[in-house]
Amino acid sequence: AKAAGRNNAQWFEPAMLEESNDKLSLSAALRHAVVAGELSTVYQPLLDLETGRLLGFEALARWRSSDLGPISPERFIPVAEDSGLIRELGGWVLRQACADVAALQREIGRNLRLAVNVSPRQLRGTAWLDEVLAALDESGLEPDQLEVEITEGLLIDDHGDAVELLERIRRHGVKIVVDDFGRGYSSLAYLSRFPIDKIKIDKSFVQQIESVDASAAIVDAIIVMAHALGLTVVAEGVETTEQHRYLTARGCDEVQGYLYSHGLPRHEVAAAVRRLEAS
Ligand code: C2E
Ligand code: CA
Ligand code: CA
Ligand code: CA
Repeated sequence: AKAAGRNNAQWFEPAMLEESNDKLSLSAALRHAVVAGELSTVYQPLLDLETGRLLGFEALARWRSSDLGPISPERFIPVAEDSGLIRELGGWVLRQACADVAALQREIGRNLRLAVNVSPRQLRGTAWLDEVLAALDESGLEPDQLEVEITEGLLIDDHGDAVELLERIRRHGVKIVVDDFGRGYSSLAYLSRFPIDKIKIDKSFVQQIESVDASAAIVDAIIVMAHALGLTVVAEGVETTEQHRYLTARGCDEVQGYLYSHGLPRHEVAAAVRRLEAS
């Protein structure tokens, strides 16, 4: 019935109404969340595959609503994007994460990288560029310690403005990462014409390395081609030692996943890193 409803404009089903109500109340609650301090960030370690050494973290947004309980980013990020709240949310995550990683560096005793996710809407206008430079400056992190994760759709659909902004931030030394690579339909050869430094193989391929021959072959091809183009490759969603071994054998550069660590609240990071590097 749902599929039929979609193809037929005069049918507006109760489920659709519920969905749009849900989005409205969620965006109202999210507006409140930013002000009320209900947002937080967690940090998922990023490791060098060859040495097992910690390279840095990806900052991931978390929301625990006083009314609705914990809400997954898979739900609230699209709402933030549609309502425009993503600019405020993204700016908050960026400042918080820069400050946290600066403090973590002092605890852990060496410089670390920080990766943040950026939505297309944040790259309209030039405010974002100034925000990034200000957040770096305030925290004392160097631009080359920051990685900005975008999706390939942003590069392909853009009419020049976002790409130009990325080019400008990259000239400061910030690294550009294509997230979820392989989910879209663009080729790496095409993408490499854009200002990018690194690609992140989508976890759906990584998770099928053992079960689907084609996925293993795709992972393999992505690594070979990325290296041929001078790009760094990171695999996300690594959950098993078999996946870890496969990626090692194929020369993948960096890894992230539950096999190593979940995203951690700031106060749990230093202890977890000590355990991770001791193992
Ligand atoms: P993403 O950027 O692709 O982040 C990776 C997601 O996979 C995270 O989900 C992470 O917790 C999860 N993950 C990490 N390792 C594993 C693993 O081994 N197995 C599995 N199954 N999952 C793993 P999370 O935190 O729920 O975030 C979902 C998405 O929400 C992110 O996907 C990103 O697109 C978006 N997001 C999160 N925080 C932000 C933010 O601050 N700004 C923006 N624009 N988007 C964000
Ligand atoms: Ca990401
Ligand atoms: Ca991803
Ligand atoms: Ca290597």
